[in-house]
Amino acid sequence: MTDQYTFGNPVTRYHQGGFEPQPQDGPGLASELSPRPDHGEATYRGTGRLEGRKALVTGADSGIGRATAIAFAREGADVVLSFLPSEESDAREVADLVEQAGRKAVLAPGDLTDEQYARGLVATAVRELGGLDALAVVAGKQQHAEDVADITSQQFDETMRTNVHSLFWIVQEAVPHLPPGSTIVTTSSIQGYQPSPNLVDYATTKSAIIAMSQALAQQLAPKGIRVNVVAPGPVWTPLQVAGGQPDDAMPEFGTSTPLGRAGQPAELAPPFVFLSSGESSYVVGEVLNVNGGMPTP
Ligand code: NAD
Ligand code: MG
Repeated sequence: MTDQYTFGNPVTRYHQGGFEPQPQDGPGLASELSPRPDHGEATYRGTGRLEGRKALVTGADSGIGRATAIAFAREGADVVLSFLPSEESDAREVADLVEQAGRKAVLAPGDLTDEQYARGLVATAVRELGGLDALAVVAGKQQHAEDVADITSQQFDETMRTNVHSLFWIVQEAVPHLPPGSTIVTTSSIQGYQPSPNLVDYATTKSAIIAMSQALAQQLAPKGIRVNVVAPGPVWTPLQVAGGQPDDAMPEFGTSTPLGRAGQPAELAPPFVFLSSGESSYVVGEVLNVNGGMPTP
């Protein structure tokens, strides 16, 4: 069987070339993407690297969060799945896959711009899983705007609250519950250091996430809590077609990377697993770039 360990050419491993424009209303559904992304449903093979862990994954219904939730469960973790209520159909598919892996899935729909919901996710994990020791904070909002004049205060505020404030709220709430050995993995982007002109608000949040994560990493390391960051490049997810990019950018999406193609969500799961498992015990405050070969600082 082909799995993430199968030897092969990364250039031809997945869909090559761009994508048909296929606009969706935000936040979009993975089930409506064509071609269907690979989140590891048929390919991710667990090897017990997160046995008995208690995880919270935000944005767990689709894209990178979905791939992470599937991988976490197959590695042995129980998982609280955070997503927006409108994404319930995607989230139910993930919950089924988590349960097929023999693990517990807890559906936790809500809006991360709401402080009470964001903080409440920690209590949900503690109550439903009996604790919390692995956070994968993946949820994010990205809306392109060609002119700074087109970014409304409301959009700026929602992007900041979704991507930055919610991370702060979740981490602040979680720390008192996290035993030594716990891990926090946050999600930045190549946009954090190579900002595109049409992603002013989004790119700002992705830089902020790196700074927040690296400050927290130093503060929490003495407690035995490791914080690290994954910084993806272009990945085939609903984020991109639901306003993340202009429609006319889709035919080229991902093709300018050295590998010449977009990444698939399944290719992001192993980095999240690595940074969450004991094998990365001396990796702290790192930004793991997973972007098809674009040079980064
Ligand atoms: P995605 O749309 O599949 O996932 C984003 C998720 O964020 C959504 O599924 C949704 O559940 C969640 N979300 C958004 N707003 C929310 C809100 N207000 N409340 C609760 N949940 C909310 O897309 P993705 O590409 O997998 O995105 C995951 C992360 O990866 C994001 O942080 C994104 O910035 C980052 N990223 C993506 C790419 C890419 O090319 N796809 C590149 C770099 C970074
Ligand atoms: Mg989604």
